Amino acid sequence: MENLFPEDVRKLKPEEVLPKELLREDLPFLGESELEVVRYFTRLSQKNFSVDSHFYPLGSCSMKYNPRINEEVSNYRGFLNSHPLCDEGFVQGCLKVMFLLQELLKELGGFKGVSLQPMAGAQGELTGLLMIKKFHRLKRSGKDVVLIPDTAHGTNPASASMVGFKVLVVKSNKEGEMDFDDFMRKLDDRVACLMITNPNTLGIFERRIGEVAEELHKKGALLYMDGANFNALVGRFRPGDWGVDVMHFNLHKTFSTPHGGGGPGAGPVGVSQKLLDFLPVPLVAFDGKRYYLNYKVKHSVGRLSTFYGNFLVFVKALAYLLRLGDSIKDVSTFSVLKARYLRELLKGVLKDPFPNSPTMHEFVLSAAPLLKYGVRALDLAKGLLDKGFHAPTIYFPLIVRESLMIEPTETETFKTLREFAKALKELVELAKREPKKLKELPKNTPVGRVDEVKANRQLVVRD
Ligand SMILES: *Cc1c(COP(=O)(O)O)cnc(C)c1O
Repeated sequence: MENLFPEDVRKLKPEEVLPKELLREDLPFLGESELEVVRYFTRLSQKNFSVDSHFYPLGSCSMKYNPRINEEVSNYRGFLNSHPLCDEGFVQGCLKVMFLLQELLKELGGFKGVSLQPMAGAQGELTGLLMIKKFHRLKRSGKDVVLIPDTAHGTNPASASMVGFKVLVVKSNKEGEMDFDDFMRKLDDRVACLMITNPNTLGIFERRIGEVAEELHKKGALLYMDGANFNALVGRFRPGDWGVDVMHFNLHKTFSTPHGGGGPGAGPVGVSQKLLDFLPVPLVAFDGKRYYLNYKVKHSVGRLSTFYGNFLVFVKALAYLLRLGDSIKDVSTFSVLKARYLRELLKGVLKDPFPNSPTMHEFVLSAAPLLKYGVRALDLAKGLLDKGFHAPTIYFPLIVRESLMIEPTETETFKTLREFAKALKELVELAKREPKKLKELPKNTPVGRVDEVKANRQLVVRD
């Protein structure tokens, strides 16, 4: 092994190199026996919240059960050990996995083409917008505005700005859908596209999506759909059939990959005929005999990743899809049914900002009525942790004050949902009776209530 450090550096002691606050004061735990080490690390792993151990209704994230068969298949040696620089002839199996997934996503989304390259939903957004930008540039249309409803996920305006577009916000109406009149007022010749999430982040289906697409197309603009909530629609609604020109899929949400802690993910994009020639390269193709990488895409926006995307996430998504087959429909059926059941159980417990709007796979409640007791959505979230439930998403979407965004996912039992509803009811009662007590929670977790700002600025990641 080559000596990577000059001799004199290697002679230095840690305390001569590292700042004092980074030096440990006591000896590290090494264990006296294998059993001790096993217990130590098992205990550490159990301090985490996870889908495998707890109900995890984190809105918009679709923290559903990830079937073990996906993991098993993605651990096959042929998949794990294949090298991205292998000659195509050696990796026909891997290419077939990618091709099949591409084709299935095309079918499920009603698209003309799919690229698997983007490695997250947000990168899919970037990809879609780069394509839209190039599309308009070739037409010399001068369009430079992206319309985004005020319920959108923060990545939408962020991606649009990164690509150099100006963002114009469209208001929501009383039903919790995008305000069609406001949309029409803002739709002028400068609009390159609308980025819409469907169902939106309130869990409400944008019923006028077909009309919206028509109006955009009349003006020469395109329709981007954020597909993060596709688990509400899969097998039943094909966005491509309703005029969507580009959509990202979040494989790690809709098609089951563990995605806590930031990864790994995959955000393939599907496109309509108009954007087919703009897809990133390479695409995976099949000539009837062999699978191969196709670099011949006329106006391609180029590469989005060094190689071909997050391959093992593709394996998991394909395993999931092939296992479910036609019953993929049950995913959307049950994600909607479970969420509606839970919403019904929570009627009257917190404020429902859109009481007359039916919701799909998730719904949003407001804890604003508890403000008069000095209690916020954050306090309910902490209280839920104390009762052994992961907190819902809080303070998003931004248009609902003190919001809790609850997505039970299709894989939870009705019994768990009843337990969760009961826990939340108890916490709301506690908030009204003894708000101080609620604000001391959580007490049953490895770490108690932390200072929100300090915990962000001064991370303590050690045990
Ligand atoms: C999760 C999510 C995104 C971003 O996807 P990532 O895979 O996390 O990058 C975008 N929009 C919505 C509505 C989401 O829920």
